[in-house]
Amino acid sequence: MLIDTHAHVNFNDFKSDFQQVMARAEKHQVAIINVGSQFSTSKRAVDMTADFKKTYASIGLHPVHLEDFIVEEDDVKFHAKAEEFDHSAFNILAQEKKVIAIGECGLDYYHVDVTRDIYSIKEKQKKALHSQIDLANQNKLPLILHCRGSKDNPKDAYKDILSELKKNLPKKRGVIHCFGSDWEIAKQFLELGFYLGFTGVITFDKTGTTKNIISQMPLDRILAETDCPYLTPEPYRGKRNEPIYVEYVVQKIAEIRQINFDAAADLTVKNAKQLFNLVF
Ligand SMILES: [Zn+2]
Repeated sequence: MLIDTHAHVNFNDFKSDFQQVMARAEKHQVAIINVGSQFSTSKRAVDMTADFKKTYASIGLHPVHLEDFIVEEDDVKFHAKAEEFDHSAFNILAQEKKVIAIGECGLDYYHVDVTRDIYSIKEKQKKALHSQIDLANQNKLPLILHCRGSKDNPKDAYKDILSELKKNLPKKRGVIHCFGSDWEIAKQFLELGFYLGFTGVITFDKTGTTKNIISQMPLDRILAETDCPYLTPEPYRGKRNEPIYVEYVVQKIAEIRQINFDAAADLTVKNAKQLFNLVF
């Protein structure tokens, strides 16, 4: 079996056929963690756990949803409406049995509108991050963290999130999903006890950066994910991504580490079960 530790089958992109997508994953023995990015999608992720057995939910507020603007790039386009983190509403949702993490939350400087007050936008993101660390601690859950640096200085958000995490270290730690920085930054997350999640990006990353990290990081800290509907791996670039394609991420990890596919599948499942405390 496999596990997609970061999916968004709870998003509108799957509105018309999510049942087929989930059924396909079940048939292929792919367990799923659907991740919320605002209250509505968090709630939908929780609702979906009722109908599918090896399906779990992570609930949280993504930093791009703190501001009201249009996100537009490559295969992604949506209108992000500003939302404030509602601690008590999320805390009620966190009591559901199949809620296994808080997030995705974190810092995103990539989508920050440079004509606005950047300092206050960053402060708002940090505040929402700390509220979600508190919620995770309160419910003894790990975090699913999102981090993306600015266009001019891609490491800035990673450096900032590391310093925020050091100030308020989440008790159950968590994962930096779709890890997109270098080995120097990766090492610091690993030292703090975090896992690193990799998506289909590793199947088409020509820079060698992700390969360099995967080839030397401890194998008990690696997670495989799709981030579907985005970041479709090779050989399906251009198509909508979905959880069964996590297979290609696992395959790439196996290739980089020169282990067989089953060994890579087993270890990514074992790591996910360990971090998210899953029993199956
Ligand atoms: Zn995501």
